[in-house]
Amino acid sequence: MAVDWDERTRALREEVLRLRETTGAVIVAHNYQRDEVQEVADLVGDSLALARFCAASPKTLVVFCGVHFMAESAKVMSPDTTVLLPEIDAGCPMADMVDEDGLRAWKAGHPGVAVVAYINSSAAVKAESDIICTSSNALAVVRSLGAKEILFLPDCNLGAYVAQQIPDVKVHLWPGFCITHNRVSLADLEAAKHAHPDALLLAHPETRPEIWRQADFVGSTKQIIDYAAASPAKKFLIGTEMGVLWKLRKDSPDKTFYLLAPGMVCPNMKKITLRSVRDALLETKYRIEVPEAVADGARRALERMLAVRA
Ligand code: SF4
Repeated sequence: MAVDWDERTRALREEVLRLRETTGAVIVAHNYQRDEVQEVADLVGDSLALARFCAASPKTLVVFCGVHFMAESAKVMSPDTTVLLPEIDAGCPMADMVDEDGLRAWKAGHPGVAVVAYINSSAAVKAESDIICTSSNALAVVRSLGAKEILFLPDCNLGAYVAQQIPDVKVHLWPGFCITHNRVSLADLEAAKHAHPDALLLAHPETRPEIWRQADFVGSTKQIIDYAAASPAKKFLIGTEMGVLWKLRKDSPDKTFYLLAPGMVCPNMKKITLRSVRDALLETKYRIEVPEAVADGARRALERMLAVRA
């Protein structure tokens, strides 16, 4: 789909692409990034795709357009690579809802129970966990453990989805959530269905259970994009952050996509702009560092996840 960028955006875009060339950097962007940032990326994807890409990339300089825990995971997987986060305060409120001390205390109350951490967590929390999952592979990861009981954190909505899909596993939930997805209410859903009665609902499992239970399809951003492209349907209600609309419309220009609720915008993801990507490349900032002991523990849990075939 052709996009009409204004002159300033086009000039910045050219500058970023030139700097990408001269620095030998690779730019990766999450599906929730601004359209113009996704446009300059070598890879746009969900957390799992970006984690796999960074683990396999031979590049020594990565500009990570996402939030802090994502850049941290890239650094953990590629310790010799310089990983830059263009806006150092682009964090994830959900990841901040649990820290390593809280997790240690939770584990102490459930001795011997495996810990599954959503990738939306700090490296220090990952290091205290047995295995990591993303919204793409959460079911496969939990099944791979063969456990009767797990501790799942920090997203209680994704954890509830896992519990519903794998009822023979007892899932203990940490009370964390994504502020962007969790705010969607039943009233929002009813209004959207009323306005677009013939649209299919594709929902991210970070939405509340009362939302994803009514969805025609539940999946990660990539799974939602793939589902919409393959579906014969022409209209979709999209129950995840608005950034995915760029790829949905690019991949399926003949289809119509409506955001499930107007507030589905992650302010942290939107902090990164073409200007901050340009400045990151010019000034080699902001470098993400992870202490070695923490990185070793987090890498073990991430590698265990990457070995699971979804
Ligand atoms: S969309 Fe939600 S989970 Fe994703 S970075 Fe933003 S606050 Fe965190």
